[in-house]
Amino acid sequence: TEACLTAIEGAGALNAFVHHTPDIARAQAAAADARIAQGDAPAMCGIPVGIKDLFCTKGVPSQAASRILEGFRPEYESTVTQNLFDAGAVMLGKLNMDEFAMGSSNETSVYGNAVNPWKLDQPLTPGGSSGGSAAAVAADLCLAATGTDTGGSIRQPAAFTGTVGLKPTYGRVSRWGTIAFASSLDQAGPMTRSVRDAAIMLGAMASVDPKDSTSADRPVPDYEAALTGDIRGQKIGIPREYRMDGMPAEIAALWDRGAEMLRDAGAEIVDISLPHTKYALPAYYVIAPAEASSNLARYDGVRYGRRAKLSAGDGITELYEKTRAEGFGPEVQRRVMIGTYVLSAGFYDAYYNRARKVRALIKRDFDEAFAQGIDTILTPATPSAAFPLGSMQDADPVEMYLNDVFTVTVNLAGLPGLAIPVGLDSAGLPLGLQLIGRPWDEGNLLNHGAVLE
Ligand code: GLN
Repeated sequence: TEACLTAIEGAGALNAFVHHTPDIARAQAAAADARIAQGDAPAMCGIPVGIKDLFCTKGVPSQAASRILEGFRPEYESTVTQNLFDAGAVMLGKLNMDEFAMGSSNETSVYGNAVNPWKLDQPLTPGGSSGGSAAAVAADLCLAATGTDTGGSIRQPAAFTGTVGLKPTYGRVSRWGTIAFASSLDQAGPMTRSVRDAAIMLGAMASVDPKDSTSADRPVPDYEAALTGDIRGQKIGIPREYRMDGMPAEIAALWDRGAEMLRDAGAEIVDISLPHTKYALPAYYVIAPAEASSNLARYDGVRYGRRAKLSAGDGITELYEKTRAEGFGPEVQRRVMIGTYVLSAGFYDAYYNRARKVRALIKRDFDEAFAQGIDTILTPATPSAAFPLGSMQDADPVEMYLNDVFTVTVNLAGLPGLAIPVGLDSAGLPLGLQLIGRPWDEGNLLNHGAVLE
């Protein structure tokens, strides 16, 4: 804990931690020491971790990297952080992210972006939205971090920073106390340096929770014990629709290499089809904003955080309008507008309902692949390595959305997805692959991932 606190102090330029909690860390570390002395050392006893700013942490600023939550200190602890603390974890502080987890570069944060530690002469994005988590783990500022993933926000930053990121099956981890973006897609998960660490941390985070009706009432298996290294006879699907036009040669080569590593370990590589893949991104960018527009209605200047200064004669409408206009950044405002539009009476069927139908077809594609006996599916995690900060500033927002092309299908289908660092590109930057698993099969997914590590 002390080594991490010192490292964090020296790494201000990375802008990974946005709230520091050294007093909490030292108290939790002392408590962990005492537990160890009594011979009671749970899975994460004394392990210093960073917590994404999206998690409500009792008495500690929890702002989702938004101006509108300025001054908000929750009265309660999220289930995920409580579970981690019960397992002995130590909280070093809160980590930078895109505002309300909307983005793929960490640049929508009110704190300014975190920086990718791989190359400091030419600042690169650590990815997003869990960019602070990825940067902190990659720079050894903490041993592990929490992330959340609505459309790729754990897996893309993991791929950009050479770390491991796991988005669990929808319902594996309680969403209670995690500030909501798109409730039918959001899922928290571990961001770590190794697959083994991800297995241990998922075991600590997961639970059934009466406070989240979508959390699953299933026993939490021993994920670490699933890491046998034996994948002989397992069937790995390679979906042909993911081989997109214009895929960089380095990404295609990495993908082939990953398949070879799994084959060498005794798995069977099978060509599969997921025919509705090309509709995933448009469906996601209807469903996620629709749910976001509803979830973010609660930020009205009355119940949480920041309230705009009013002028004489202003009423409740001006209070809402001014608070939301100055409290939400441009990307969040764009999502609220898109979401409100696709849910409006005249367009609901044309956009929202159609996107829901497409979502069902995407899920069916996966169901059919698994019904054929496929155990996991291998794809690239991202269409490129980490890109330079600022490079997308003047681009069409859709350019940024294209980052999620390999990851959003997994959230739409509610499946577990794992990003594993597999190699470096010609510029020396990390590249990652993604493995997609059957629902509730995180153990097997992690076991496959360890072969690629
Ligand atoms: N980049 C995607 C978005 O902006 C995914 C974000 C996420 O997974 N939280 O919506």
